[in-house]
Amino acid sequence: AIIVENLHKSFGSLEVLRGVSLTARKGDVVAIIGGSGSGKSTMLRCINFLETPTSGRIVVNDEEIAIRPDGRPANRRQIERIRTRLGMVFQAFNLWTHRTLLENVIEVPVHVLKTPRTQAIARALALLDRVGLADKADTFPAFLSGGQQQRAAIARALAVDPTVMLFDEPTSALDPELVGEVLSVIRDLAAEGRTMLIVTHEMKFAREVADHVVYLHQGRIEEEGPPERVFGAPQSARLRQFLQTVG
Ligand code: ATP
Ligand code: MG
Repeated sequence: AIIVENLHKSFGSLEVLRGVSLTARKGDVVAIIGGSGSGKSTMLRCINFLETPTSGRIVVNDEEIAIRPDGRPANRRQIERIRTRLGMVFQAFNLWTHRTLLENVIEVPVHVLKTPRTQAIARALALLDRVGLADKADTFPAFLSGGQQQRAAIARALAVDPTVMLFDEPTSALDPELVGEVLSVIRDLAAEGRTMLIVTHEMKFAREVADHVVYLHQGRIEEEGPPERVFGAPQSARLRQFLQTVG
């Protein structure tokens, strides 16, 4: 589970997150929507401490991550430990380009988690199979389509058996015909009860997979609720306008 309470993040004088709170219990799928610059990526990056929050509380799987009031990074050890339980998938497929898919997927299990290599390989092959890339294990990322690369990135994130998955617009860099294959992998993960926070601009997808939808506007939650209500009967005029512009 993830608990975020009154999260603030500023870059210099720019206040990007202005008191965001949200909870994802085990198995919850929370979709985060909002306009460009509303703070969606910053929020995900704060949750795995790629950014240091300015203030607030973050609890991942019952473990609270200490946020230091002086703005200095929190305890490195604790962050490393928590990160291994958070699988993050970004907009741009950030695979290691000079390594095969198999090498990409086993990297963290072998080198960080010290999983025995044969065991890591067996698991990686199963994960690549799961995302439809069994025959690409020895291929380098450059030889794959964007959709295949993104599915490989998902397999890599799953390799540490994360309790929580964070997705930041995983399909926004893809050609339209490749979006479906990636969403379908994420849909399966949602169905198997993984806890997930998904930043997405695919409203149809959000409506279908999310248990809870959060609409961010200028660093605050403007509206939130079950998808039927957020998409079907939005209260806020801003949200209504946003939904019109994204279709
Ligand atoms: P998009 O939909 O375009 O991805 P977003 O909701 O993810 O937008 P963020 O990336 O969280 O938005 O950015 C929110 C604001 O914070 C933007 O104004 C951005 O310019 C600013 N920002 C983000 N990262 C930094 C940084 N490292 N330094 C300074 N400003 C930043
Ligand atoms: Mg973003």
